[in-house]
Amino acid sequence: MPASDGGRTQGDLPAGPRRHSWRVRDWALWTRPKRFIAFLLTMELLALSGFAAAFAGSGTPTTTDWVRFAILAVGATVHIQLTQRQEERRRSRTRTVLIDLIAVWVFPAVLVLPATLVVLVVVLIRLQRWFTARRPAHNFVFSSISHSLAAALAHLTYISLGPQDWHTLSGWDSLREFLLIIVAALVYEGVQVLYVGGILALSSPNPTIRTVLGSKADNLLEAITTGLGVMTAVLLVTMPPTVAIMAVVTVVFNRLAELDQLQDDVVTDPKTGLLNMRGWTEAAERALGRISRSGGTLAMLMIDLDHFKWINDTFGHPAGDDVLMSVAEVLGEVTRPSDIVGRFGGEEFLVLLPDTDTAAAGLAAERVRSTIAGLRIDTTDKRGGQTTITGRTTSIGVAVYPDHASTLEGLLQAADEAVYTAKENGRNQVRFAPVGDAA
Ligand code: GH3
Ligand code: MG
Ligand code: MG
Repeated sequence: MPASDGGRTQGDLPAGPRRHSWRVRDWALWTRPKRFIAFLLTMELLALSGFAAAFAGSGTPTTTDWVRFAILAVGATVHIQLTQRQEERRRSRTRTVLIDLIAVWVFPAVLVLPATLVVLVVVLIRLQRWFTARRPAHNFVFSSISHSLAAALAHLTYISLGPQDWHTLSGWDSLREFLLIIVAALVYEGVQVLYVGGILALSSPNPTIRTVLGSKADNLLEAITTGLGVMTAVLLVTMPPTVAIMAVVTVVFNRLAELDQLQDDVVTDPKTGLLNMRGWTEAAERALGRISRSGGTLAMLMIDLDHFKWINDTFGHPAGDDVLMSVAEVLGEVTRPSDIVGRFGGEEFLVLLPDTDTAAAGLAAERVRSTIAGLRIDTTDKRGGQTTITGRTTSIGVAVYPDHASTLEGLLQAADEAVYTAKENGRNQVRFAPVGDAA
């Protein structure tokens, strides 16, 4: 989760089919669910009063303010321009909350500039980001407003707490000042979480904490970035030319954050976004180790789509891919967050269910089978025409630890065998591995 845009924003949400238009009634916004539109407009209206409050007490910027503003604007621009390509790459594969490093430039503005210039810094950044953002305009505007508001309210909070001149701080005063900065940082984050988290929760069919708030690593990154922003502020006030160092640091840090993303890619199946075999095996081994130490049970489902080749032959490979993606989505939806879902290969999927016994595993497998059977998958046929694929059946093999095997490999083999039995018995069914079979 590297790169730079506007702090916490939305990833690329599936946009409406239309390109953005200047005519109000053509806006893609109106194609979204009602509660989404209501939330978006309400929060934008509320933001207006937030801006009014922040601007009310803000005096005319002094020459020093403008110089500091110019330094931050240049730093942010260098940062954005040098990380543009990387940002595009990342954006195209993120569908959840996006957290980036731009707080390094926004948060110092929050602390040292008057409210009007704080918002101007955000606007400048967002204008440059417009060109990499591949999203409907209403999302972009909403993200921009929420980030500006977060910065403005954090600034207002900080100012009303009575900060002191940093040049004359004694030891204890600097500790107090540090606490004020932390409060301002919490407001900055809190407003963004409320706005961006709220809109993400309303726009996804089954929001999870992770897709709405971001992963632990994302949030740690955001905290570090805000911390770097504090350092930028201190440098800006005490020794402005050294802010150049921060520009270098952020660009390098951006690259490091991309390494983190690459690490994620290593364990992810690009087509479905599920774990690939490498990632699945690592996670499954960990779960099995934990369960065997605690003396619990776990179940494994091997799911093979029936006559999948027929889909490719009849509708073409892109349609086959759409079916795979829909099935992957279903597997995420019908399982618990602690279940481990992966793509075994081709049209075969694996689900590991920790703390699940035979009876519960049978129910889970049946739920997977019937949900996939009920899917209506909109896709294209060989000629590119619209078509809907329905009634796809699956054969599911179930193996349970410790009944069928005590190792992951043994469980895989047992589940695979059960899949074959299901196929032989006419497909479209759940089969358990025979007990006392595998190692
Ligand atoms: P069965 O009911 O016996 O499982 O029949 P099947 O057709 O599902 O099984 P088979 O193993 O004969 O064929 C699997 C097909 O899956 C063959 C392969 O071309 C296709 N396939 C594997 N990976 C992908 C993929 O990523 N995308 C698409 N579109 N097809 C894939
Ligand atoms: Mg197969
Ligand atoms: Mg198959």
